[in-house]
Amino acid sequence: MTAPSFGQFFLPGPTEVHPDVLAAMTRPMVPHRGKDMRELLGNIAEPLRQLFRTRRQVVIGTCSATGFMEAAVRCGVRHRMLALVGGAFGERFAAIGAACGRDVIRLNVPLGETVEPDMLRDALQRSDVDAVTIVHSETATGALAPLEELARVVREFGEVMLLVDAVTSAAGSPVETDSWGLDFTLTGSQKALALPPGLALGVCSARMLERAKTVPERGAYFDLVTFDEAFSEAQPTNTPAISLFYALEAQLRRIAAEGGIEARWRRHDEMRKTVECWVQESGARWGLSFLPVDGRRSWTTSCLRVSEGKNGRAITQALGARGWTIGSGYGPLKESTIRIGHMGDHTPEGVRQLLEVLEEVLG
Ligand SMILES: *Cc1c(COP(=O)(O)O)cnc(C)c1O
Repeated sequence: MTAPSFGQFFLPGPTEVHPDVLAAMTRPMVPHRGKDMRELLGNIAEPLRQLFRTRRQVVIGTCSATGFMEAAVRCGVRHRMLALVGGAFGERFAAIGAACGRDVIRLNVPLGETVEPDMLRDALQRSDVDAVTIVHSETATGALAPLEELARVVREFGEVMLLVDAVTSAAGSPVETDSWGLDFTLTGSQKALALPPGLALGVCSARMLERAKTVPERGAYFDLVTFDEAFSEAQPTNTPAISLFYALEAQLRRIAAEGGIEARWRRHDEMRKTVECWVQESGARWGLSFLPVDGRRSWTTSCLRVSEGKNGRAITQALGARGWTIGSGYGPLKESTIRIGHMGDHTPEGVRQLLEVLEEVLG
């Protein structure tokens, strides 16, 4: 069998990049403050708004998503933040807060679970914080937080900013930046957007920008006020990763051609359901079960527990020997789970093919 050029790489980031998107990056450089770049930034502004479901401006930085997590903290947290932690990326937000000299209060839930609205309300009543950090889709555990409901709770507490890591949700499942009232929504290029790594994208609410202006020493490179000013004139902040902007422009065209962001969400929903149906039908036979409960599962990353006596790493290695890639477990879940990243340009049919090979490996 000859390997297809696309469709066997199901890592939960970086995601497999479509050949057409890769090809877009071979265009020559242009001056980053010239007419071509301004035109490109002008062209992508509206499609990006649709992607984030916002009327506000989407800003782009040349850094990985973690860079914008730091921007969120530097610009959005005055003194004390509440970090919702249910896995490695929630933990990362808390660690960034501490590294930036903020007081960090953690609200921890067991791996695979999510903070629920009542828990959040209770925590906010007990502690005086000026921001909350949350990971919408915790890629380490495959758990999807009830973000709309959590955002509503945060709004009960006045000037508390809600800083959202939407790295494996934005572009893969519903993220309603404006109507849910998210103050900063961030993602990276190499997950559900299925671009190569190297860009971070984010949206500030009006009150987030006001907050940022009141935070002294918010730094320079990750100052969201500077980003907002530059992008409102269709300018990058510094010399950007120009080739990646070509890839982004191409990918936004492909998203439009698919029927827009809602069509893309539906495809991701189907991929998740494909894995769910398979686990329901034959998971017990292979000793596999979902880590998160029904209704709290990411649309882009399925994290499956392997039964006692089986080893997740052995499964990913056996798949690798056949030319197929999935993610092993993350951190403390390294041996006890496997993770299938079904995001970006993958299809339900592709996921079914992967599951067939997975059955061969398990059998
Ligand atoms: C991958 C990931 C990040 C970090 O992304 P980098 O681009 O490596 O900085 C943050 N949060 C989540 C949920 C992720 O999946």
